[in-house]
Amino acid sequence: RAKGEGRGVHRFFEAWMATAVQARRTVELDLRAALAEPQFELHFQPFLALGNNRISGFEALVRWRHPTRGLVAPSEFIPVAEETAMIVTLGEWVLREACREAARWPDHIGISVNLSPVQFRSAALALTVVAALGEAGLDPRRLELEITEGVLLQDSEATLAILHQLKRLGVRIAMDDFGTGYSSLGYLRAFPFDKIKIDRSFIADLAVRPDAVAIVRAITSLGASLGMTTTAEGVETPEQLAQLRHAGCTEVQGYLISRPRPAAELLPLLSGAEVPLAALGAGRRRS
Ligand code: C2E
Ligand code: MG
Ligand code: MG
Ligand code: MG
Repeated sequence: RAKGEGRGVHRFFEAWMATAVQARRTVELDLRAALAEPQFELHFQPFLALGNNRISGFEALVRWRHPTRGLVAPSEFIPVAEETAMIVTLGEWVLREACREAARWPDHIGISVNLSPVQFRSAALALTVVAALGEAGLDPRRLELEITEGVLLQDSEATLAILHQLKRLGVRIAMDDFGTGYSSLGYLRAFPFDKIKIDRSFIADLAVRPDAVAIVRAITSLGASLGMTTTAEGVETPEQLAQLRHAGCTEVQGYLISRPRPAAELLPLLSGAEVPLAALGAGRRRS
């Protein structure tokens, strides 16, 4: 009887595996078609500078307008795109589209683009960036590239060489999701980042864990002494905003300020006016 059961479990497992492999294959095939069209669009989420309460820039976040599934989030296709190297073509599209959009904004508003570690395996990355900037006529100083520590985990010599090329172009480099990996402090010494983005898990813990407050303070003061901007990700409440201001954070980003929006809905955020924090329930300002 036990043997029969084992076979049943085995068959079930095989069927489940076959379904998973099939689903993955479908995404891969759909992605190829999507790249040819392309079926992608960018949404933009603002950064609020705490020094003057103004919008200082936007992060481009890619979405897939799938013909039958609707709007698909990056977590569902970026990993597949990375395994198949389609991320290189997709990444190039994102860079060009983001630069093109940003060129229509006022000069003081920057644009941040996420780069996959896979894009750093090609020595042509800097050329791709130059082309995107040139085509859009965008000042390199308005472009920021966000990388995760996964980038620095791979062949560090070649990767560092590319990062330095990018820096020489005049673009800014940000370390994304800071604090989630292994030896983040070592990475801060390995390369002179312009910005540290504090991972949203620390921000979510601010209200409930005193150690999260201590960690955020430590990162902001570290950033300040290294001459790096510190941006808090995933700010959702006025309380978090007040704590981050108090901790000396340079910038915040999160649903409290705005969700990522399509380009056509950015106009109210491009005026350069002070953001009415009272409207966010965060009107009390320290002086
Ligand atoms: P990320 O770069 O760390 O981007 C932040 C993610 O957090 C975004 O999710 C954003 O919508 C979400 N978020 C922002 N504020 C809040 C908040 O207050 N609360 C919560 N719960 N979430 C918030 P999204 O757009 O789904 O992107 C997920 C990840 O996919 C990004 O993480 C990035 O790693 C990757 N990604 C997105 N676009 C691109 C791209 O063009 N290229 C590459 N290589 N990766 C991308
Ligand atoms: Mg990012
Ligand atoms: Mg992040
Ligand atoms: Mg992230």
